[in-house]
Amino acid sequence: MPRPEKLRDGLLAWFYRCRRDLPWRRSEDAYELLVAEVMLQQTRSEVVAARYPAFLDTFPTIEALAVAEVEEVEAAWSGLGYYRRARNLHRAARMLAERGVFPDSAAEWRELPGVGAYTSALLASRLAGEPEPVLDGNVERVLSRFLASPRSPKRAAARRLLLATAAKLLDPGKPGDSNQALMELGSLVCRRGRPDCVRCPLASGCRAFRSEGLDPRAYPVAGPRRARTKLYCFTAVVRSGRGLLLHHRPAGANWLAGRWHLPTVELATGDESANEAAELLQLEFGGVWECDDHHVAVRHAVTHRDFRVRVALARWRPDPAAEAPRAGAGRADLGWFGAAEISALPTSSLLGKSLAGMPIHSGP
Ligand code: SF4
Repeated sequence: MPRPEKLRDGLLAWFYRCRRDLPWRRSEDAYELLVAEVMLQQTRSEVVAARYPAFLDTFPTIEALAVAEVEEVEAAWSGLGYYRRARNLHRAARMLAERGVFPDSAAEWRELPGVGAYTSALLASRLAGEPEPVLDGNVERVLSRFLASPRSPKRAAARRLLLATAAKLLDPGKPGDSNQALMELGSLVCRRGRPDCVRCPLASGCRAFRSEGLDPRAYPVAGPRRARTKLYCFTAVVRSGRGLLLHHRPAGANWLAGRWHLPTVELATGDESANEAAELLQLEFGGVWECDDHHVAVRHAVTHRDFRVRVALARWRPDPAAEAPRAGAGRADLGWFGAAEISALPTSSLLGKSLAGMPIHSGP
């Protein structure tokens, strides 16, 4: 890379001039930055900016987060999705509160649950001035274009080259600002479909921009696609005077883990009758189920899964022959909730979608 100092100075100058005023940019507190970076792992910054202050109001210190119950943390995480992050953050808070000190290197940050290469590098560069480059989706795009890299950034060899290039663009005195500058450049200038190359502080060294015949939008090169799987489900909407019947899905479930959702069973083909769905619900949750034939079809995509859900009104009553009726009595993972209570639970956007077409008046 010719004259990396000039490029890194230009990048930092652009960042100080153009960066967005985001709440975590104003903080140098290790706890607050940890919370922000975990939230930002899989959620857009605008969404995080809207929910981050409330989370810190609820848990203003690492000690406050450490002594909370995991259900309280999940409830405060509502709207951010990917609740595994909330549970990992809670575990990390307990470890840190017990140790009494925060890590001061990327390697130490990586010992915490939910803190991987990206988060540890960002925290160490911001808090300890460690010259650790970060690679998130934005930086991958910027540097793949900058190098006109012919390989997908998902490939190990390509990633090593991108990381080495990011390292050259780090200002040794301000590595945290340099890392944030590259990420911000990807968000504001080197955008996915509309790179604004004439405003870009890296334009003088960017191969995709400067080489004749190349189109920056062709980078990064796509990697092998993970096959998507279809998942057919039946969801029962059961109402009573106490609200809607919801199920707390197990922490180890392979989808919507740890979240409250309407009682749902997986189907083999999606063509099963309402009676067959009722039998599956009985096997899963106990009691006697009756499901309406009429249903609303809902589609929902999560990472590599496409959900095809049939949502129907249903009725449930305890099985009079059973010694210990299960649903709603003696099962802590089932319960009745009113609309206000549901809004405070860790749920998924699939819950709102499932209820949207239902002729009911309570919901989140
Ligand atoms: S010059 Fe264009 S393509 Fe290259 S890094 Fe800047 S915005 Fe991206």
